[in-house]
Amino acid sequence: MLVFLYASATHAGELPIFDAHLHYSHDAWESLPAKDAIALLRKAGVKRGLVSSSNDDDTQRLLAEAPDIVIPELRPYRTRGDVSTWMRDDQVVAYLEERLRKYKYVAIGEFHLYGVDADLPVPRRVVRLAREHGLMLHAHSDAEAIERLFKQDSEARILWAHAGFERPERVREMLRKHANLWADLAFRSDHGADGKPPPEWRDAFLEFPDRFMVGTDTYIVERWYFVPEHARWSREWLAALPSDVAERIAYKNGEAVIGAAWAKQK
Ligand SMILES: [Zn+2]
Repeated sequence: MLVFLYASATHAGELPIFDAHLHYSHDAWESLPAKDAIALLRKAGVKRGLVSSSNDDDTQRLLAEAPDIVIPELRPYRTRGDVSTWMRDDQVVAYLEERLRKYKYVAIGEFHLYGVDADLPVPRRVVRLAREHGLMLHAHSDAEAIERLFKQDSEARILWAHAGFERPERVREMLRKHANLWADLAFRSDHGADGKPPPEWRDAFLEFPDRFMVGTDTYIVERWYFVPEHARWSREWLAALPSDVAERIAYKNGEAVIGAAWAKQK
C-alpha cells in the first residue's frame, strides 16, 4: 500500500506538458498509426498539443483519435513539397478557404516564411484569413518576416516557431516590442543544453514567463519516438527555474493562449 501511494504521488508531481509544435504528416501515419502516436503523447505526460500536418487530413485523423489532447492548426501545405513554394502559389489560398469552411482550427501554420516574402500576395491573404477567422499565426520565420506580418495586421497573434532560431537577446527584443508574440522552443537545445538554462536564456524566461512554450517538432516520424525523451528533458531544465515560471512554460502558457483560443473556436 505504501509503495502504491508513493508511486501515485510521484506521478501526480510530474509536470504536465503542453507541446506547441507537433506534426503528423502523411509519412508519419503510414508507419505510426494515430492510436500509437497518441499513446506516445500520453506516455510522455503531454496533456495537450498543437498539431499541424502536410496535409491537413492527417491532423484530422489525430484529432479524431484524441480530441482531449489534440488542438488543430491548419498548415498551408498539401504535401511536404509546399514548404518552399506555398508563398507564391495561389491555390494554397483556395485550399485554406476550403478547409476553413469544413473544420475548426486555432491557428494557421506552421508555415515557413522569411524576410520580404512575408509581403507577397499569398501570405498577405493568409494574414487576412487568420484575422477573419480569429486564428493565430504559427510562423517559422526570421525576425524580419515577423515584423512584416505585424505591419500587415497590428492585432495579429503570432506564435514564433523555434523562437526564430534567434539568440535569446534578440528574442527578448521582439517580445518587448510585440505584446501579441509568443515563442515556442521546438527543435533547439541551447536553452537547456546542460540540463539547465544558461544565464541569457534564464533572463529571457524570467522577463517573459508568459510568452514561452515547449515543443518537440515531429517533422519526421522518427521524432515521434523522441516525444517522451523531449518531455523528460524539458522537465529537467525547467526544474532549474522558479516553479511558477516552469509551470507556465511547461503547460500553463499553452493552455492560457492556445487552449483558451481553441475553447472559443469550438
Ligand atoms: Zn515544425
